This record gives sequence, structure tokens and C-alpha cells, in this order.
Amino acid sequence: MSTATSHHLLAAVVFGAACLGAQSPTPSADSLIPGTSLHRCATPTNLVAPPTLGPGDCSYNNTNPLAAYAPTDVVTIPVVVHVIQNTSGTGNLSDQRVQSQITVLNEDFRAMAGTPGAGGFDTGIQFVLATTDPNGNPTTGITRHTNNTWWTDSGSYWNSIAWPTDRYLNIYTNNIGGGGTLGYVPDLPQGGSVLNTNADRVVILYSTFGRPGTLPPYDTGRTTTHEVGHYLGLFHTFDNGCGTASCYTTGDRICDTNSEANPRFGCPGSATSCGTADPFHNFMDYTDDTCMTNFTSEQARRMRCTLMNYRPLLGGTAAQAVSFGAGCYTRQESIVETFGGNGFDLAGTAAVPNVVRFVPNAVGYDVLHGAAAWFTPGSPDLGLSGDGLLTINLPFAFSYFGGSTNVVRMAANGFVWLDGVSADPGTIAVGSLLASGAARFAPLWMNLDPTLGGSCHYDIDPAGDAVYFTWSDVPYTTGGAGNTAQLVLRSDGGAEFRWQAVPNQPSLCAVGFTKGFTAAPSNTDLSASLPTQVGPAAVPLSWTALDTPILGTTVTLQLGNIVDPLASIGLTVVGWSQQPSALDLAFLGAPGCPLLVTPDVLQFYLLSATTAQWSLPLPASQALVGVELFTQGAELTNGVNALGLLTANGVELVIGSL
Ligand SMILES: [Zn+2]
Repeated sequence: MSTATSHHLLAAVVFGAACLGAQSPTPSADSLIPGTSLHRCATPTNLVAPPTLGPGDCSYNNTNPLAAYAPTDVVTIPVVVHVIQNTSGTGNLSDQRVQSQITVLNEDFRAMAGTPGAGGFDTGIQFVLATTDPNGNPTTGITRHTNNTWWTDSGSYWNSIAWPTDRYLNIYTNNIGGGGTLGYVPDLPQGGSVLNTNADRVVILYSTFGRPGTLPPYDTGRTTTHEVGHYLGLFHTFDNGCGTASCYTTGDRICDTNSEANPRFGCPGSATSCGTADPFHNFMDYTDDTCMTNFTSEQARRMRCTLMNYRPLLGGTAAQAVSFGAGCYTRQESIVETFGGNGFDLAGTAAVPNVVRFVPNAVGYDVLHGAAAWFTPGSPDLGLSGDGLLTINLPFAFSYFGGSTNVVRMAANGFVWLDGVSADPGTIAVGSLLASGAARFAPLWMNLDPTLGGSCHYDIDPAGDAVYFTWSDVPYTTGGAGNTAQLVLRSDGGAEFRWQAVPNQPSLCAVGFTKGFTAAPSNTDLSASLPTQVGPAAVPLSWTALDTPILGTTVTLQLGNIVDPLASIGLTVVGWSQQPSALDLAFLGAPGCPLLVTPDVLQFYLLSATTAQWSLPLPASQALVGVELFTQGAELTNGVNALGLLTANGVELVIGSL
């Protein structure tokens, strides 16, 4: 409410004093550079009875450099540079020259290490050529105009070409005063004559703009640094002379710049005027460009106070899109569960065997629970030894993920080599060994010994479309009760593990499938994590911002590495915050898939390809500036896990005005 009131006041004041901004200010005599006809600066800083505007912390007559104004964050100011040339083409500064001036501003205002401004105080204020124009369209932040009147700084050009001065720093380059003035702003914001009007501007003599300029010794961009200092409310270090001990209300209204009676030019080795060393290295004096190296801490506070109180919409927030977290990795080329001694939990009973099925899909297998089933062997015992292997020719070519075969080798130790030649009896059963060896199905890989009891069988289904490998009542190699399991291979490429009782598993056991010679997969809990898939290793779902979230624009985010686009639904999760720690969705049936953001909004959409895009239009509301949105992509698709959900990484959107 107070903001609206002060705007009314400003409008009234501006109306009455508009003439001040409508012409080039007349430089004062003390700005004349000795031995030349050049004026260093024409900014009027000597109003006799300035209006009292805004709060008192950085008014025209007073500075109160509270700690609250210390630069604890970075404010980025969007700049539009209006390059004015005459019809002869003089003043036609290159884009590169314009950008060099922005670089100089940042070096000076941020006191960047390794630059001429490194000796100064980091104001936390930086500058960027605008990337969005007033209509929300992309821009270089540079406009160009050819006009012989404007070239002389006449003609109130700002009424034709200014961008909204409350949101952009408008800098104009031309040939001020026939080239006789290096730069000016028409008034300090605290003066009130131009604030929030088109006339609010920084004007720089073209030859001093950028680095290198063409008017030495004013050719390294410090004229613009100096004038932008005025634009942000700073006086000259020498304004109002030595002042008094009340340094916040006299002189330049700043205490940590020494008092100074008159401007300094050139670059004196030393200079004293008010009993202390003159601050001639300050950007707000009149010395040569290379002599200027610093703003002070209190100048920084006065400028930031000015931004907050006089130019509240100017300190833009840079839009950002930042990726965080990781999506779930869903498909491996091998699947395995390793059990420690007596840890086997897949057993069924003779009446109700437990079944896990490998159902061929387009790329590998869907792995899922199956209905209880059993084929009662009719063949004689194969007579396998304790670590025995038996080569068996199949009645059909068996195609599996990774190959096809007519011959396999059945091992006494509870697995079948699919390559038909491997001779390893597999006395040590560990999942990583299963994955790294040749292709095999292992329904009950452990150190079994059929010479101690039970029997092993190979049967062909009467229909001829399946074969059965059965370990019936076979004890562990140390003897004891027998374990019963069965592997089915079908002519359609499907396979099944079946288990009856498995009471005797005193040491390591592994269950799974490998296409052969793969990396060790992460352990899969076959009782809790089905369905899942085996197939070509899948990369995690990805979630990428294609745009930066600038106010009034549309941000597009892209879901990538979609597993099964034609049978899936895209899901975007939008939250106001991140999960304090990634919430693994194992409890819902999507193990390894984390929820990274609070699910405040869910949006679903159809998929048609392995990438899909989701758009978020951002209203042009200043209230959204700085708001953080946390987003995460996801895919709903059957078969990848019990929940049918894959999650991508998250993307944090910091909504900005530039
Ligand atoms: Zn000045």
C-alpha cells in the first residue's frame, strides 16, 4: 500500500519537474578537464532544494548505511544500450564494444579479481544486456538508431525509444555536447525529476563507451561506471566540498570516502584537500579511467538502498533451471538375487509351487510372478555327479535375450548353461559370477549334490513346445533334506522358474538369468520387486529444461529416454519444495526410483516418442520473481516394476525477470 502511495507522489513531482530531463544538463564549471574543453560529467548533483522522496536511509540529503543494505546477495540489472549514430555512420559501436562495457561494469561493481576494479568493494550489483525485450521477445539488449538530432543529444529521443525505465537501465550513446561532455544522468533518482519517466537514463559519449574506447585517457569504460554510480544514487566524492564531521548528511553523504574539496583530474601520486588523502581512486571522482579502481562499502550500501527504495523493479533476478538428483535405472542385462545361508525365500510347496516367469517382449523379458504350476518328471534320473554337467540337445531352437541355441548343459548345481559348451560346474553361487559368465538360467544355483539324495531330470513336453529341467529333492553338498526346483524353456522363448520346498540351503545361493558376460547387476529382490524387465541396459529417464524460467515466457521441459512411449503416460510432478532427502518409492513398488520433490501438483500427458515435452507458461507477475518451483519428470508404464512408475531427475526452476 505504501508503494502505491509513493508512486502517486512521484508522478506529481515528475510532472512538475519534467523539463530537467528533457534536455542535456549544463555541465558545471568544475567538471571541465584542465587543458581541454571536455567536461568529465554533467550530472547535476547540486540541487539547492531537492524534494524529499522515499524513506530516509538514502535520500538526497542523507545516507543511513544500515547493515540491511549490505550486499548479501547479487542483484542483476538488465541493460538496454541504445546506440545512436549520425547519418555519416559515426557512433556505430559494434555489439562487441557494447558487451565490453557491460564487462567493465561487472569488473568494477563486483570488484572482480584480476581486473582494474579488483581493489574495490564488491557491491553485489551486476549487469547484463537484456535478453527479453518489453514485449517478452528475445533480444540482444542493443537497439540502433540513425538520427542527426539525437546524435547531438537533442530531440527528446527517449520518448521514442526508451524501454520501461522501471525495469531496464537505459543507456544511450551519442555525441553529447558536440563531444564536449563524457557522460551524464539527468538527475539522481533521489532528485525525483526523471524517475519512472522515459527520460530516466544514462547518456555516454560514444568515444568513451566500452573498452577500448577512442578518447584516451577516458577509453577503458570508467565513464559509464561513474555515471551508473550516479544512476544508483551516488554523489561525486567532492560534491559539497569537505562537509563536516556529520559525513552522512554533508559532502557526498558517505563516511568511508574521505572528504574532498574539489575534483581531481589525471592521476595524482597523492593529494590532500580536507586534511585526509583525497579519494581520487574512487569511481565517483574525475580522474583518468586507469586511475579509478573502487567503490566503498558505504557507497555499495547507498546504491543498494537506492535500488530497493527508488528502483524496486530494476534489481532483476536471473532465471535459472538447475538439475538435481537422478532418475531410476530400470533395466539390466542380467537379473539376479543372491541369498546368504538359509536366506532363500522363493520356496513354495509341492501343492503350490512358487513361479517366476520370463515373458519375451520386444527387447528382452518381462519378469513377473506366475501362477502355480509343475510338470511331474516322467524321465529317468540323469545320474549327475555332485558337480556334474550334462549336454542336452533341445527339440527346438530356443531364442533368449542375447542369443539362440539348440544345445544346453544342465548342471547338478541348479542351473543350465545356454551356450551348450561351458564346463564350469559352478560350485560357488554368487550373483556377480552369474552375470559375468556365459548365458544361463539359474533357478536354484547352489552347491547341490544329487549323489546324496534325490534325482535330476530332463523332460520334453508331450506337445513338443517346452522342455523341463528338474532338480527333485536334491540335498546340499553337506547332506540333509532335499530341495526341489524346475526350469521350463519354451519354444516361444519364454522361461519359468518353479520352486517347491527348498528346506536345505545352508550357504550361498543365487537365482537369476544372464545373457552372458554382463556387468554385475544390482541385486533384485525377486519376491518383492516383480514385475521388472531384463533387456538392453536402459539409461535413466531424463528431465531437462529447454528454457530458462523468465517471467511472462513459457518454460519447456523435456522427458527423455522414455522406455515404452506407446504404452505409457508422462507425468510431471511439481512441488514447492524438494524432498528433504530423496524418497525411495520401494514401499509403493518402484524400488530405486526416488521421489525428489513434494507432489503438490501432478500433470499427466500422452507420449508418442522416446522424448516428450511439457510446457509451463509463467504469468508476467512480478510476485513470481524469485519463486522456486521443483519439478520432476516421470513415466507410468506397466511391467517396469510393481508400481509401473519410472522417475527422472529433478529440475529446480528459479523464476526470474531476466
Ligand atoms: Zn559525475
